[in-house]
Amino acid sequence: MKKTRSIPLKTKRFSLPEDEKRLTWLSMLLDAYHIVDKGVAASIDSEKKKGRKLACAKGCSSCCVTHKDIPLYPLELQGLIWYITEKLSGHEREILKSQLHSFSRDNACPFLLERSCAIHPMRPMACRQFNVFVKSCEEGEDPFHTRRNDVMDPVKKYVDQAFFIMLPYHGIEKESVRIKFIEAGEMHKMVRELHACNWKALAEKMEKPSSVERRTSKEEQ
Ligand code: SF4
Ligand code: SF4
Repeated sequence: MKKTRSIPLKTKRFSLPEDEKRLTWLSMLLDAYHIVDKGVAASIDSEKKKGRKLACAKGCSSCCVTHKDIPLYPLELQGLIWYITEKLSGHEREILKSQLHSFSRDNACPFLLERSCAIHPMRPMACRQFNVFVKSCEEGEDPFHTRRNDVMDPVKKYVDQAFFIMLPYHGIEKESVRIKFIEAGEMHKMVRELHACNWKALAEKMEKPSSVERRTSKEEQ
């Protein structure tokens, strides 16, 4: 599972100010992703100091084909469904819709389009954190099994902080309760597998035009 663009060391938060004003969950999710990206950047930096270079780069995406067990948290699922239905438009939307219609569990990730991630700003935490050092993966290689030492370990403190930010989405507001919930490993009980989601239903939702398409059509009238 992959980021199809390399991650800069100085991470910038992806922002959608107008949408975030209306959708508090969206701010939560983008804040959580920003924290995860910071953790990834810190790991890349630390490996670089040991002379180990990140191998992941734009266009390198065989991990998005190989991995079939990508974890997805409920807020992430909401985020990507929203992004796809409201923000994607034109050719990309049409191709993705048809890919989702015909998706089956044995396929590559349903969001991989022409070696690139169609939901890149909203890709799950697992994809953000799956990074490989030294050399890029061979076709079909899962480096987790072939060379575990080259696979980045997610930094727990960043992941936990991301969970902490996400928990109010589940109605868990109190800080001490959130900390206990995370420490007890309860977040992991909420996880789903990306390949097991009903992507055909999402393709049907995409029959309605996105907000971008609705705006363009209004402007043309
Ligand atoms: S969402 Fe899919 S295409 Fe995007 S990075 Fe993850 S595995 Fe790759
Ligand atoms: S090097 Fe491996 S993990 Fe990194 S982008 Fe390429 S295929 Fe994915």
